[in-house]
Amino acid sequence: TPGVRPLIAGNWKMNGTLREAAALAEGVRAGLDRVTGADLLLCPPFLHLHVAAASMGWKPVGIGGQDCSAEANGAHTGDVSAAMLADAGCGYVILGHSERRADHGETDGLVQAKARAAIEAGLIPIVCVGETEAQRDAGEAEAVVAAQLAGSLPPDFASARGVVAYEPVWAIGTGRTPTEADITAMHGRMRAELAARFPGQGETTRLLYGGSVKPSNAQAILALPNVDGALVGGASLKADDFLAIGAAV
Ligand code: PEP
Repeated sequence: TPGVRPLIAGNWKMNGTLREAAALAEGVRAGLDRVTGADLLLCPPFLHLHVAAASMGWKPVGIGGQDCSAEANGAHTGDVSAAMLADAGCGYVILGHSERRADHGETDGLVQAKARAAIEAGLIPIVCVGETEAQRDAGEAEAVVAAQLAGSLPPDFASARGVVAYEPVWAIGTGRTPTEADITAMHGRMRAELAARFPGQGETTRLLYGGSVKPSNAQAILALPNVDGALVGGASLKADDFLAIGAAV
């Protein structure tokens, strides 16, 4: 999208040791000069945020969480607040990932509440949406994603520079990706939804694609209209692959 600097975000999910997190962040830092056309973001597990942030020297690579509570503080055993993430060096937080929606029953309403909490704490939310394979086969993909956007994004999402990640559930971790035409159609639909709901801001909301992005397909995907970066799972666990994706912008 003209005027929008792409973002390449690595979702490390629940992988690795502290030592491996430090090594991975250090590997990314060591190769940063390969990436000139995009911002990079690392999203380690909560317990590894500190070592990753310390390895990066906190900048210029962003650090993000993979989830946060919708509540500000208090009696919520096991949860982590948005303010805690900000305090630990995060600038972003991934919300509503399909694994959270599936494993923890997260609804659009909860995701929206989490996004509000994130914005309140000064974090930029990366809200994930995407259809299942059955929904795509039924011809419902665009309607499903439009409904997820309507339900998951709070009113100040675009003004807070919120990011949307389109991640078809069936493409995550499977090695399968939608066709370029399907990605283009979905991102065009998401752009239209955002521009209609957030006039003057939704036109430049960053729209990431996620789902089996790797060095071999990154260049083609990142060149598609309204694709303003990628959310990368598996390939973000190897510094070399992650940097290659960043260099493909
Ligand atoms: C993800 O889960 O955010 C993701 C895109 O995973 P992968 O790249 O491994 O498909």
